[in-house]
Amino acid sequence: MRIDPTKIEAPKEEIDAITKKYNCSETDAVRAFLNATEATKNAYANSLARELGSGDEEPINVPTPSVHTPAEIKNHLDQYVIGQEDYKKRLSIASAYNFAVVHALNEGVSENLQVKRFRKKNTIISGPSGSGKTYCAEILGDFLEVPTLIIDSTDYTEAGYVGKSADDMVRELIQLAPGQSKQEKAGFIEKNGGIIFVDEIDKKAKDGKVIGHDISREGFQRAVLKLIERKLISVEDPMSPAGQIQEMMSQQRGGHEKDQQKNVISTENILFILGGSFQRYPEDLESIVKKRIERGEGRIREDGSVTVTGFVTSNNHEAESHHNFYREAGADDYISFGLIPELVGRAPVRTYVNALSKNDLIRIMTETRDSIVEQYKFEFKLFGIDLDFSDDALMWIAERAENQKTGARALISVFENMLTEFQFELPGRNFTELKITKEICESPKDAVLAMLARSPLVDFIGKFKRDHGIDLVIEEEAERKIEEYAKEHKIQVSTAIEKLLSGASALNYMNWQEPFIVTAKVIDNPAYFDEMYVKWHQKILDGTSADPGAGGGGILP
Ligand code: ADP
Repeated sequence: MRIDPTKIEAPKEEIDAITKKYNCSETDAVRAFLNATEATKNAYANSLARELGSGDEEPINVPTPSVHTPAEIKNHLDQYVIGQEDYKKRLSIASAYNFAVVHALNEGVSENLQVKRFRKKNTIISGPSGSGKTYCAEILGDFLEVPTLIIDSTDYTEAGYVGKSADDMVRELIQLAPGQSKQEKAGFIEKNGGIIFVDEIDKKAKDGKVIGHDISREGFQRAVLKLIERKLISVEDPMSPAGQIQEMMSQQRGGHEKDQQKNVISTENILFILGGSFQRYPEDLESIVKKRIERGEGRIREDGSVTVTGFVTSNNHEAESHHNFYREAGADDYISFGLIPELVGRAPVRTYVNALSKNDLIRIMTETRDSIVEQYKFEFKLFGIDLDFSDDALMWIAERAENQKTGARALISVFENMLTEFQFELPGRNFTELKITKEICESPKDAVLAMLARSPLVDFIGKFKRDHGIDLVIEEEAERKIEEYAKEHKIQVSTAIEKLLSGASALNYMNWQEPFIVTAKVIDNPAYFDEMYVKWHQKILDGTSADPGAGGGGILP
């Protein structure tokens, strides 16, 4: 914005004071002065509204999110979401156009338009769990500054059943909008729309086996369909005390039309994303698509034409397992899976995500704006420790996470398991560096103990004493056997002791009082403590002893 200071009404002495104090140009001073005046006005109005409610006026100060191009949105998503190009691109287009249309209509361009109703770009997204479907929507909502609600379909039922109803989604979305009062928040959604991501929609697909379930699942889909089409939703839950009071007051005033309008909003501007993994035993979406392609049927488009994808089916299972059949899924496949045709028809954008590879997982750990590695580095730095990871450590973590088959979700648990001991032991002990290597990943506990110059055996003995109050004495030959066992099974010494002496807690139940001597015999016999316990129990039953006393009272195997 170019400002001509001579045309603006601003007190000269104020502007002079600002120019002097901030050593800035007159134009900058005027701009700053106007912004500050505007901010003061808003704060004044907001404070009044907070104290007195929004009065008879239209909701005050409803901001309008800015318009972004699809490329700008995609650019932002790229900084957080690895891979999933098709999804990011389609979501960028769907949201850019949805909110640009909403913006344009708010600006009053509709008088010149021939098109009166816009077909929204509601989207269906399918693909494996943990691969970025909901994450991408969260990042999108933050960037666009539009309220974004992510719900799990299984928490909702069609209206009339016990549980949350589909209309509650809109009321939950209202809660996320900016504004001081519920009316103001509702005003924001009515004016600017929002995003509702209906996750696990596949769990509401008909599967034709259980009739009762099918009816309620279809009922939920129909309820969502109504929201997607355009529905007026009351801002207060009609079943809640507040909703009933509002209804009563409105009736007392003769059901005044304006009054009622203030209490309902339209879902017209809300963009819906329907997501799910579409995996179901015995027939998931991928197998439906695969079978159709194998039958050579191609895909029937909405306009009735048929496309044959040109995909050559292969007997090579390795190659097939890397082919993403979600990608080929069309309207007919979603309908075969159990979505109702009307709902599929109202979600014209269909896209997919790929299963994440080891390489993707490494990139997720390191390359994204809020990468997990950066988060851990930050946490350790809070205690003065510089954390770093070698490449082979990252590969080790990615392999572990991949084996769990829960996509990127597994990363956190692999990191947590591996770093727990370091997170507990290192802070406050003057360590300034921690470089995690593959060897450390394989034996984190031994590595921590080595850093603390503590032997795994001493550590186990200390922990056993704290847990059970019993002293263990590990004989030299037993110690050697434990170390050999760890080497042979490629596990940490600390893990080997825990495994070999896992039965030792039985001593506590036998009210053992003396120090217990761990001999080679104890290590050699995995059932040592079980046998000891059985003997002890037998003695109790015989009434000969309640306390093994020194030397075990004859119950040692
Ligand atoms: P779903 O596909 O089941 O909706 P999410 O989107 O909830 O899975 O993914 C779980 C978590 O894994 C996210 O919060 C995010 O931290 C991470 N994640 C998953 N996929 C990606 C990806 N492609 N890029 C970056 N992070 C990802």
